[in-house]
Amino acid sequence: MSQATLSIDLSAIVANWAALDRLSAPGCVTSAVVKADAYGLGAARVGPALAQAGVSWFFVALAHEGVALRRAIGPKPVIAVLSGHMAGDAPLLAEADLTPMLNSPEQVTRHFSSLPKHSFGVQLDSGMHRLGLASDDWRAVAPTALAHSPRLIMSHLACADQPDHPMNPHQLSQFRAMSDGLGVPRALAATGGILLGRDYHFDLTRPGIGLYGGAPFQAARPVVALSLPVIQTRWVEPGCSVGYANAWIAPRRSRIATVGAGYADGLIRALGAGGAHVFCGAQPCPIVGRVSMDLITVDLTDLPHAKQIPEVLDILSPHQGVDALADKAGTIGYEILTSLGTRYGRNYHEGQTCS
Ligand SMILES: *Cc1c(COP(=O)(O)O)cnc(C)c1O
Repeated sequence: MSQATLSIDLSAIVANWAALDRLSAPGCVTSAVVKADAYGLGAARVGPALAQAGVSWFFVALAHEGVALRRAIGPKPVIAVLSGHMAGDAPLLAEADLTPMLNSPEQVTRHFSSLPKHSFGVQLDSGMHRLGLASDDWRAVAPTALAHSPRLIMSHLACADQPDHPMNPHQLSQFRAMSDGLGVPRALAATGGILLGRDYHFDLTRPGIGLYGGAPFQAARPVVALSLPVIQTRWVEPGCSVGYANAWIAPRRSRIATVGAGYADGLIRALGAGGAHVFCGAQPCPIVGRVSMDLITVDLTDLPHAKQIPEVLDILSPHQGVDALADKAGTIGYEILTSLGTRYGRNYHEGQTCS
């Protein structure tokens, strides 16, 4: 193998969606968030797999993501746009039948003046102060918006991955105060919110990271595996350096492998300083020295003696998931996934990944 290979298990994504769907309150619709190209895994493949499994609502961040998704999944599912109706979006929203979540009085005005009969939803700010109508603005525009029959009223939780955080019940009560009794379907929970329990589910949930095997959905099936080809190995004598800035000095005679992926492929430089490993089967091998743009150096000295030089080393596998790798780099699984580069060979499959 000459190219690093990213394997994506579509059946695991579908199984994770089904598991989150079973956790959701009866009658609640479980949507799928496929923004940022399905968290880096390819919305053109992930979208159809989920639509085929019965997902009827999808969320993207931007209208142009929605246009591409519509081509991939056909006319039936609802595609909602989290950034709402931005200037210049009207032709995209109309052409691809997208449902913008209106975030501000300006977006409400823009939507009803350019696409008065077109589907829309409303996003409310329940305390995260990022997107959505503040309660004053909502009071002002609610009569007009409600007269046009919104499909959904939604908000987003800031601290849902910390179940005991007081922000969760605070945002829940703010959201209720702004939306109780309006007779419009509601949505508050992403992956973390689903795990907080049924009070948070309302009529629709919006999981993203849990579909792709990431925390806080601990029960998720792993979705991605990433194998890096070994380009070259060498013995390095004690006291000799490896890589840029001589950042690693061999403490003993060491067998070093150079593998073919680097920070240009989303394997960020912080991995070099964080004590991260790649795996030869189940055996961890430390990353040594700095991560380069296209290359990573690995210490194979402790591999069992009889073992041949492996052709590939795994950086994501059942032995090291997305969150374990992210921890080593001081980041989160979301950032590792969405940083995965475009140079990998991509292998979409339906079945267990092998290590
Ligand atoms: C990204 C996002 C989601 C999905 O969140 P996860 O934590 O990945 O499940 C849901 N809703 C909104 C508004 C988002 O921005």
